Amino acid sequence: MELIDNYGRVLKDLRISITPRCNFHCVYCHPLGMEMSDPPGTVSVADVRHFLAAAASLGMDAVRFTGGEPLVRRELPQMIEAAATTPGVRDVAITTNGSIFRKRHKELVAAGLQRINISLDAVDPEVFRQLTRGAEISAVLDAIDLSLELGLHPVKLNAVVIGGVNDGEVPALAELSVDRPLHVRFIEYMHLNNAPFDEYRRQYVSGAETRRRIEERFGPLQPVETDPSSPARVWQIEGAAGTVGFINSVSEPFCSHCSRLRLTSDKKIRPCLLTELELDIAAAFAAADPVAALQEALLRAAGKKPEKGSTLPTLRQRVMLGIGG
Ligand code: SAM
Repeated sequence: MELIDNYGRVLKDLRISITPRCNFHCVYCHPLGMEMSDPPGTVSVADVRHFLAAAASLGMDAVRFTGGEPLVRRELPQMIEAAATTPGVRDVAITTNGSIFRKRHKELVAAGLQRINISLDAVDPEVFRQLTRGAEISAVLDAIDLSLELGLHPVKLNAVVIGGVNDGEVPALAELSVDRPLHVRFIEYMHLNNAPFDEYRRQYVSGAETRRRIEERFGPLQPVETDPSSPARVWQIEGAAGTVGFINSVSEPFCSHCSRLRLTSDKKIRPCLLTELELDIAAAFAAADPVAALQEALLRAAGKKPEKGSTLPTLRQRVMLGIGG
């Protein structure tokens, strides 16, 4: 059984946001303060288990837990365990800022975590502090070392490039891929934070420009074969152990290959990151047979997945923190 939308795209990848809370306050993502606790109605472990059973029965086989910051959610290991033990799920990952990974890694790995994406937008501690509004880089660098030691594979690093803020960090970030098998992915800044339009336009940097900066320092990049449904176009610095990738969601949208559906922490399916459309499926979670009701909800969501999203600056009802990147 496959979940196919109206444009022939096979939907395989689930992003599950498990909390709107985050212990970082990144300038491009977190316009609000940290909530003290998850709001009532936030997805529970049982909800995640039911949702995964429904999604996997429809052929969705890759799950990435995100947020907010997934590591601030106490029940993350139980959710990972639910994913790792759902028949048909073959890939269980998290996207995290890494800050408390050292504290929690044992329970996560024991639960079945296979791989990790760590957000790292700068190598310079001061630029990092500025971007995260005060966080220390050392714990994040430590999480990267630890992920490699644990054999999580691949270890991907996500960097959003923002002009005048961290674009000068691009060569140093790319350099992280040289000696160790780290996969550094440069993400174009999307207008998902309701930033003032002119400020956003000033700060947006295209993936082509980011690539030019890397090649200026390291010479021509070598192409690496990539799964076409992956949003990243992947390259390698000559002789490097890892890779550099470009997620050019704004300048080169990859909607025609999109294989994703998102579940937000307040129980809505978001079929496309870049349109406002959301299906409230709280009733399906509360149904007598939640797995059957969620299967039906997933089919409905696939039928409504827009052909393409829009990255044009516009006032959005929900910002990235609440959607789950
Ligand atoms: N807290 C986790 C983390 O730091 O990775 C997970 C949530 S965060 C919203 C997921 C990813 O979305 C991060 O890699 C972040 O850089 C990216 N992101 C957030 N806002 C963005 C924006 N406006 N444009 C592009 N990427 C963004």
